[in-house]
Order: sequence, then C-alpha cells, then structure tokens
Amino acid sequence: MDVTVYERGAEGTLGYDWTDIFAPTAWKAAGMDMPPQDKYEYKTNMTFYSPNRQIPLTQSIPADEIEMKMERKDIYNQLIEHAVKCGVTFVYECTITGPILTGNRVTGIKTDKGDFYADLVIDAAGIHSPVRTNLPAMCGIEKSPQPCEQLYVYRAFYNKAGTKKPDAKYKIFLLPEGKRGIAWVAAEEEFTDLLIGKFEPFGIDEANKTADFLRKSNPWLGQKVMRGGQFTEIPVRQPLSVMVCDGYAAIGDSAFMTMPIIGSGIANSFKAAKMLADTVLADTAGAYSADTLWDYQVKYYRAIGAGLAQIACIKSLLLSITPAELDYCFEKGILTAQDFAIGSDNTSLTGMVKLKPIDIVLRGKALLDKNELLKKVLKLGYKIGKAAIIIKFMPKKRDSASVAGWSKQYIEFYKRIV
Ligand SMILES: Cc1cc2nc3c(=O)[nH]c(=O)nc-3n(C[C@H](O)[C@H](O)[C@H](O)COP(=O)(O)OP(=O)(O)OC[C@H]3O[C@@H](n4cnc5c(N)ncnc54)[C@H](O)[C@@H]3O)c2cc1C
Repeated sequence: MDVTVYERGAEGTLGYDWTDIFAPTAWKAAGMDMPPQDKYEYKTNMTFYSPNRQIPLTQSIPADEIEMKMERKDIYNQLIEHAVKCGVTFVYECTITGPILTGNRVTGIKTDKGDFYADLVIDAAGIHSPVRTNLPAMCGIEKSPQPCEQLYVYRAFYNKAGTKKPDAKYKIFLLPEGKRGIAWVAAEEEFTDLLIGKFEPFGIDEANKTADFLRKSNPWLGQKVMRGGQFTEIPVRQPLSVMVCDGYAAIGDSAFMTMPIIGSGIANSFKAAKMLADTVLADTAGAYSADTLWDYQVKYYRAIGAGLAQIACIKSLLLSITPAELDYCFEKGILTAQDFAIGSDNTSLTGMVKLKPIDIVLRGKALLDKNELLKKVLKLGYKIGKAAIIIKFMPKKRDSASVAGWSKQYIEFYKRIV
C-alpha cells in the first residue's frame, strides 16, 4: 500500500511530555517489535480512594497482566520508525481542514498545503478530528461527543517536595473534593505526577486549587511544574457507532476507542490498526467502500468495542453517585480492591468483575440499607444488559438501512444513560 500520513505537528515534536501506560501485547498485536528494554518499565499497582480517603483499595495485578510504562515521545519514535521502514511517507506541519467528498464518497483531505486525494482516508486525527466532524450527515457518522462523553484533563509533573515518604506510590482519587471527576498523584523517583480530570472544562486557577487540595494529603506534590502542564481532552464514551463510510475509516480517539472510565486508548488503537489493515488487504478489488470496510467495525466490536460499550454504562453511576454513597461502597466492601484490578488487556466487564455468589449476597445485603444507592446500582445493571443486547444486534453484514437503524438506536440509548 502507498501510505502517507499528514500531521499538523512538526517532525520530532509530536506527543505529550509525559509517560503512558498500556498493554505490552499491543505491539505484537499490531505486527510490531517490542521497544528496546531501556525504553520502558512496568507500572506499579494503583491505590484507589473514595472522597473521604478512609479506606485505600490497592489493586494487585497479576505479573503477566501488568501494563508497560513508556515516554509518549518514545512510543511515537518507535511507531514512526516502524512506519517509515514499511514505506510510509510523513508530511509534517500540514493542517487538515476537512474531507473532500465526491458524491457520498470521501476521496481525500483538504489541508493548508492543498488538497490530497486517496482511495481510502484513515482518520486518526483525534477526538475532535476535522475530517470526522466535517463529514456530511449522509455518511451517518457521529460528529462530536455528547456532554459528559469527554474528560477535560490537566496533567503535569511537579517537583518532589518535603521529606515525607508517600503512603502509596500511585494514588487515584475518585470524586476528589467531592466533585465529579478523577485525579491521580503518582510519586515517581524524580518528580510527582499529577492528573486532574473533570467532566466540565476548567482552567489553570481551578487546576491549582485542586492541586492545593491534593497537596494536603500528598505533601510530596511540589509547586514547580517540571514537565507537561497541558490541558487536553480524552473521550470517555462508547466507541463510535459507525466507524466507516465509502473511502473512510476512523481509528483511535477519532473513533472513541478509549476505555470509557479510564481513558486508555493506545493499546486498543494498535489492535484496531491490525484489524483495519487486514480488512483493507482483504478488499482485493480495492473498493474500500462502507460495505467492505464494515468488516473492520464488526471485528473491532467483537474483540474490544462491545466490552467497552458496556463499561461506558458505568460512567452513568460515576456521574450520579454522591460522595457519601461512594464512601459507603468502600467502607462496606461493595467495592473491593479486586474490582480495581484491571489487567492490561482487559476491556470487558466479565474480565473486570469476578464475583463469587457469596460476594454478590454480601454486597447486595450492604446495598439494601441504602435505598437510593440500590436504585442506582439496579439501574446500572439494567443499562449494561440493554447495552449488551443493542450491541449484539449490530448488523454483521452491512446494508445502509439496517446500519442506519441500528446506529440510531445505539446513539439514542447512550444519550439517555447519563
Ligand atoms: C493526560 C492523558 C493521559 C493519557 N494516558 C494514557 C495512558 O496512560 N494510556 C493510554 O493507553 N492512553 C492514555 N491516554 C489516551 C491516549 O492519549 C489516546 O487514546 C491516544 O493518544 C489516541 O491516539 P490517536 O492517535 O488516536 O489520537 P491523538 O493522540 O489525539 O493524535 C491525533 C494526531 O492527529 C494530529 N491532528 C489533529 N488534528 C489535526 C489536523 N487538523 N491536521 C493535522 N493533524 C492533526 C495531532 O497533532 C495528533 O498527532 C491519555 C490521554 C491524555 C490526554
């Protein structure tokens, strides 16, 4: 294949100035070699806290399921080096403004360096891709995430402060300050990593206020930003309902492939890349039409997307649960450390929740004392079940009418769950 990547950033400047964690198996799944050993390490277990921070729950991930941790720039270097070796051309400092359409087929991209035509446009331009958001309605592809389907994030590496030894290395705070969202404070050897994620946009003043709040229980979080310090957005939602149209396929954050409650998207995107490549190569007639590309969507949902779409329902509980209810879940063992032990390749609820019948009885008993919470949990169970049924009926072979009908039902369902 003759592949060209158009990228608005300058060569050597891509990515964020921070590290990422993801499944090491993703490299092999995408047909790539593992990076050199000095370019990565394995992540430490995380400790989760409810708003009152009374009961820490520390995950214990089995050794063969631990995610690798790597500098984002090194991930990109490895990917780009591999792509160049495979014959891919990169055009940097080229800003895409939208798709080119011929009838209802995507035939290229408009950029500040002119128009470029292609047999197939693979849209990997991120959550707010100018290609996806400018597709006409007839392509049947959602343009933008709905409210609460993206997390606004601030992340920075601060200096290490004080002499106090951290009580846990990698701390995750659910509903920090009692507000909807998540934060982490990770004590690394040379710095302290801070992430603040909220469902509404926020600026540096609010980020500083939250950081000050977290410093009270994490005095090793210094005041000086050493790296990062950027605001970004992560999709935290079900995968795109329709990922393909004639001449077009979305992948990565552009197809909302992130884990909906955590925001990890790298491994899923690598795995999806292989599925898309296989689909494209199987289309020996070179049609690259919605019909032939549909197989990519089916493969993705079967392997990863269906699980993620069910996990997306949990967000509705995260958005509606009160701080006191979450504290209660930690205190009464309704949530346990085992529930947070999400292994690197885990993208489904069945993999995440391994409950024995006795656990269900004990947790159910504790819930009986809290009517409102019980209702929320029962509603969640209903939503997960309904999501599973909707996804099961995703057409396996594509025809316009059935895909349009199915996609409408899927979109409407998720609009109502938050
Ligand atoms: C703070 C934070 C922490 C994260 N941590 C993790 C983690 O630990 N593990 C994990 O798996 N995931 C993590 N993620 C998610 C992960 O970053 C994404 O899922 C992943 O980067 C998606 O890759 P992508 O290539 O699809 O999109 P992006 O990374 O968004 O890349 C899109 C590319 O398109 C380019 N582009 C965009 N618009 C245009 C345009 N108009 N013209 C030309 N080029 C354009 C951009 O410059 C960029 O290079 C994190 C995200 C954030 C924000």
